[in-house]
Amino acid sequence: MDIQSGTYYWPTTLATAPTYPQLTEDLNCDVLIIGGGSSGAQCAYYLANHHLDVVVVEKNLIGLGSTAANTALIQYAGEKMFTDLINSFGEKNIVRHIELCKQAIDDIEEAQTTCSIPFEFIRRKSLYFASKADDLNKLKLEADFLLKHGCPIDIWDEATISSHYPFSKAGALIFQNDAEMNPFKFTHALLQYANAKGVAIYENTSVNGITFQHDQVNVRTRHGHLIHAKKVLIASGYEGTDIRKEPNTSFVSTFTVTTKPLQHFNDWYERSLIWETARPYTYIRTTADNRVIIGGLDDPTNYPEVRDSKLVNKRHKLIEEFNKLFPHLHVEAEFASSAFYGGTRDGIPIIGEYTDYPHCYFLFAFGDNGTVYSMMLAKLLAEKLVSGSSPDSRLYHSSRPLRVN
Ligand SMILES: Cc1cc2nc3c(=O)[nH]c(=O)nc-3n(C[C@H](O)[C@H](O)[C@H](O)COP(=O)(O)OP(=O)(O)OC[C@H]3O[C@@H](n4cnc5c(N)ncnc54)[C@H](O)[C@@H]3O)c2cc1C
Repeated sequence: MDIQSGTYYWPTTLATAPTYPQLTEDLNCDVLIIGGGSSGAQCAYYLANHHLDVVVVEKNLIGLGSTAANTALIQYAGEKMFTDLINSFGEKNIVRHIELCKQAIDDIEEAQTTCSIPFEFIRRKSLYFASKADDLNKLKLEADFLLKHGCPIDIWDEATISSHYPFSKAGALIFQNDAEMNPFKFTHALLQYANAKGVAIYENTSVNGITFQHDQVNVRTRHGHLIHAKKVLIASGYEGTDIRKEPNTSFVSTFTVTTKPLQHFNDWYERSLIWETARPYTYIRTTADNRVIIGGLDDPTNYPEVRDSKLVNKRHKLIEEFNKLFPHLHVEAEFASSAFYGGTRDGIPIIGEYTDYPHCYFLFAFGDNGTVYSMMLAKLLAEKLVSGSSPDSRLYHSSRPLRVN
């Protein structure tokens, strides 16, 4: 799959990223992780503290897949509102889902204290505004649901919004405890931590064949080496669906711009994350070195050449959308990318476990909070591999009936 193209800001922020060798021999291990993006790193991080032989293989270099395109707004609320998700999954399950997502954000925060590469994790408020007045009722219902379940949010009216920002909207929710980070540094931080604890990591090592024996998986690399693993975690991002199709996933094209650094963020309340109820939505955040990242304007195409042909126009439109909100901040694009964006049809991520892939687990942590979902699924899978069971993983299992509102 040709997942993305363009220019990427995050890899420029860690000029001396750790490097890892290519695999040059056959290996045996307890757990093989296929993919050295943030999901593979999250799996390695959770497995590093147990007495298991863990190996990570990455076909290119670490962190240059979707991880490099990730705008890394760290939130638990996603494209489908929780009040819609409860129609499909029930209130109890969705409340648990929210708890697990919030825990995943806390765990990312904690990782920053454990790992030696700081990854610019900062707690931020999120402004989630009504794109049109008609959306206010839905926002209100969502707010009632979240407040009932103890989520720290505020409801802002038009006057409150315009006293905090240079724009006015009919209403908004303010999420108190979201965050932002640098996903490239995050991935390297977790992998460096895991590597120091004994996890073996190989770059430029592509998997191109998987076969099964009754108690192990035989994985062949492009250079002809064999890895015999008791369990395999397929953390290959969107390309995981090239290994095995998952009918509950779907793709659209999305676009991002990262601007040159700005001098100030006057009138941008606490440099909050900002997004909206429109679908597709536009979203913005700032970076540690004072840039703005603007993303969205999703497009239904899943042909890479069509996606990429739209980049120049979308880059222009994203800047226009930003200017509508902050006309006094003069932004200039420095990086821009077009990318596939994976979601699930029913709105929650998937742990893929299939009879035709015994001893394998696919992390299909797709959705707009992919980083948070991967953190959560990586933890659940580590729990399952280490202790033999993980009751919470049932909600995300690929065998769940497809329930779309
Ligand atoms: C434009 C964009 C914006 C996003 N914004 C957000 C956001 O704001 N917040 C958020 O939470 N999420 C966001 N996401 C989602 C987030 O980027 C992903 O959830 C996350 O990056 C997934 O990481 P990953 O490791 O699963 O995938 P990847 O980073 O793609 O890593 C998978 C790795 O597997 C490797 N691989 C694939 N096949 C093989 C093979 N056969 N052998 C060996 N290695 C292989 C690839 O080379 C790749 O490095 C965004 C995604 C995009 C595209």
